[in-house]
Amino acid sequence: MDDNKEILKLSNIYKSYKSKNETIDILSKCSISFESGKFYAIMGHSGSGKSTLINILGLIDNDYSGEYEFFGKKISDCNENTISCFRFEKIGFVFQDFLLNDNLKAYENIMIPMLINKSILPKDRKEKALELLERVGMKNRYNHYPKELSGGEKQRVAVARAIANNPDIILADEPTGNLDEHNEQEIFELLKNISNSGKCVIVVSHSNEVKKYADRVLKINEGRVEDIK
Ligand code: ADP
Ligand code: MG
Repeated sequence: MDDNKEILKLSNIYKSYKSKNETIDILSKCSISFESGKFYAIMGHSGSGKSTLINILGLIDNDYSGEYEFFGKKISDCNENTISCFRFEKIGFVFQDFLLNDNLKAYENIMIPMLINKSILPKDRKEKALELLERVGMKNRYNHYPKELSGGEKQRVAVARAIANNPDIILADEPTGNLDEHNEQEIFELLKNISNSGKCVIVVSHSNEVKKYADRVLKINEGRVEDIK
């Protein structure tokens, strides 16, 4: 395996939001790169631009200036279709609110991203979902609906869903924001294991606990990203 390869590179990213009569700068001259096989924590006070940065990295927001190279390809040179393909194939997302479908069982939630993945045959989806549940320690709950799971269990299912299509990058925006300390550690542990398997894991968190797991801790301060570990 090609360990610790630089896969994402932001150069001089500038992002602002315009309201009625003012422009608010969120990121300015933000330059940073990310490697496979590493766990990154992004910290910073509320409103500092953490979700803004995650949305840019996740190809959800393409409205900024500066250059973003994604696996060596300049995003500014890519069309919408290519960008969507990158997002579906290369990135898995984990959210603070889990965002599981309440009407689907745990394994069915995990099968959702596989619906657009041609490399997983329909007949193999359930077995693959069960393997993923086993990996996150949730196989015995495969048949449960989200309302029958605790917050920590829901987030483990959501992590399994995020890695269902074997993405290279996992982006997690405050994944432990709704969890207690014990469950928080379990989720960080799980994300750490995923980064150790060669993935680039980028986690936004307010919790100092995340520093124990992260290879690199970044903080957004007045629009710049600085290293604090
Ligand atoms: P964080 O995730 O660090 O709490 P965000 O990246 O969500 O911060 O937001 C950074 C700043 O940008 C905040 O002041 C927020 O109010 C503002 N902001 C975020 N999204 C928008 C938007 N769509 N329009 C205008 N302002 C926004
Ligand atoms: Mg946020």
